[in-house]
Amino acid sequence: MRIALFGGTFDPIHEAHLKIAREAGRQFHLDRVLLIPAARPPHKEGVTRTSYEHRFRMVEIACQREPLCQTSRLDEGGGSSYSISTIQRARAGLRPHDQLFFLIGADAFAEIRTWHRWREVVNAVEFIVVSRPGAEYQPIEGVRVQRLDGVSLDISSSEIRRKLAAGEPVPELAPGVREYIRRNDLYRGAPSDVGDDVDLNQ
Ligand code: ATP
Ligand code: MG
Repeated sequence: MRIALFGGTFDPIHEAHLKIAREAGRQFHLDRVLLIPAARPPHKEGVTRTSYEHRFRMVEIACQREPLCQTSRLDEGGGSSYSISTIQRARAGLRPHDQLFFLIGADAFAEIRTWHRWREVVNAVEFIVVSRPGAEYQPIEGVRVQRLDGVSLDISSSEIRRKLAAGEPVPELAPGVREYIRRNDLYRGAPSDVGDDVDLNQ
């Protein structure tokens, strides 16, 4: 089996996430893509206010129409959402010859060396790095990287949260996710709900 882990805050999950999963599946002959909402994103402490359960449920709804995608609770539970723990838990559930990939956007990959135990992370998986408008990254010695090009979409959850708070239309969301947000009254009137490119400590 060829399986890709796709972690994220998914606050909320959007069309680019789904297109990435689909295209990676096609180009790299994946049998499954595990979407893993981060329970406590280490890089977004104090930023993500949408509960784990809401974010998880939205990913689940979006995945209903994506045969390759499965929503995973691998990241649920205590502690911070460090990728190394997630990878180890995923590996423990696989057979020895199963191949594990890590699907990631270029913006996140560019910061990989700031990750907790990053050397172990890069030794454990092969990366599929998705190009993203405005994001550049350098190759790192000893890190196995495949590029996924041609899925570049200028969509982000931060921008979607801004639009939702402003009452603007959000065609970048799956209809079921839009409906879930409306029913649960999420992302309303939160202009300070910023993305991960803002350093709150400054
Ligand atoms: P936020 O704006 O809140 O950071 P986001 O759109 O970046 O949200 P995340 O949940 O942070 O979404 O992303 C999960 C993963 O998907 C990350 O690896 C990120 O780089 C990747 N990703 C998200 N959107 C895109 C995109 N438009 N193009 C390429 N990669 C993306
Ligand atoms: Mg992000």
